[in-house]
This record gives sequence, structure tokens and C-alpha cells, in this order.
Amino acid sequence: MSYRPDKVKRREYVSKDIIFKNGKLRVTQLFGERPEFYEKYGLKGHEGIDLGFTSDDWTLFSPVRGYVWKDFDVVRNGYGNHVAIVCPEERIVVFFCHMEKNFVSEDDQITIGDKIGIMGNTGNSAGAHLHLMIFQWEGNPANRLNADNGYKGMVDPIPYIQKWLEYSNVKDDIIFDKRYIDQEQIKKYKGKL
Ligand SMILES: [Zn+2]
Repeated sequence: MSYRPDKVKRREYVSKDIIFKNGKLRVTQLFGERPEFYEKYGLKGHEGIDLGFTSDDWTLFSPVRGYVWKDFDVVRNGYGNHVAIVCPEERIVVFFCHMEKNFVSEDDQITIGDKIGIMGNTGNSAGAHLHLMIFQWEGNPANRLNADNGYKGMVDPIPYIQKWLEYSNVKDDIIFDKRYIDQEQIKKYKGKL
């Protein structure tokens, strides 16, 4: 099964706070980039996207409805302080990584626009940013799809983010930060934005 936006029912409640306040999203690294760096982690490339701040407000907001599946308060691995949110209606898990702090605990019910935490620089991170990643599942979140895709089942979050922004009537496009992202890489998203 793949993600089919047309099959996801229009969400009843929307917030303009999608990941960052008012959906202000600046991408500093795309999915799949830097294969030479991620090889040592057993990955074909970057297994999520990185988002940088656009204002002094580093609060992070949930883009989905669901519940908190995992809450890693202890900075014990590469992802630092991170949480995983299950979204049953989209059959995905969304990870917020490298946070300074988080406001949620396992099994907390989450709705769109809920405050998840504060962006930070914990774990294997060189500067404050949000590493956001997504995997798809079938049946239950322990049954991860595409686990052998070279990214441990993670998929490109940008098509999801575009849909979330659209649902929430956020008019601003995602910013692809040209200082960090190769122009050739950005081209594959042109026409969808
Ligand atoms: Zn990252």
C-alpha cells in the first residue's frame, strides 16, 4: 500500500500551526541526500527532512491527529530527545527529533496544532533544527512498510507536508534553503509547489 492523498478524508479540524508556527517551513536538507555520509548508519541517504527556524519561536506543533507512540526523553541516541506520533487516519508515524524539550508523553492523544516540543540540538545534530521523518504502516504501527527500502522504511515527508499545508489553508510554500540544498535536488519538487 502506498500513500494516496485522495483516500485520506479531509480533516475536520485544521490549524495553521503545522510543524512550525503558521506553517513557516524552511527545508535545509532533503530526503535521500548525502548518501556518502549516511552509509555508516546503514542508510542509502538522509532518511527524513531537516527544517530550520524562520523566527525566534521554536515551538513545534503536530501536523497530524493521533497519539504519542514513543517518547524518548533521555538523550540516548542519534535522534536525541524525540517523539513518535501515530496518525491512524493516514497510517503513518511521524517523528520529531533533536528537540530541546518535549511536552508530550506516551499514549497522549494528539490533535492538529498541539504543541509537541521545542526545536533543539540534542543527539547527533550540528545546530538547532528539526529532523522530521515518516514511515507508513499497515494494520498497526509495529508493522512498518517498506522496511527494506534502504531508509529503514522512512519515506519522503514532503508530499505529506504539502497536503497538510493545503488542508490547513496555509498559503506559504515550503522554503527550500538554497544555501544548503543543491538546486538540482530542488527541481524534482518544482511543479508540485
Ligand atoms: Zn536530518
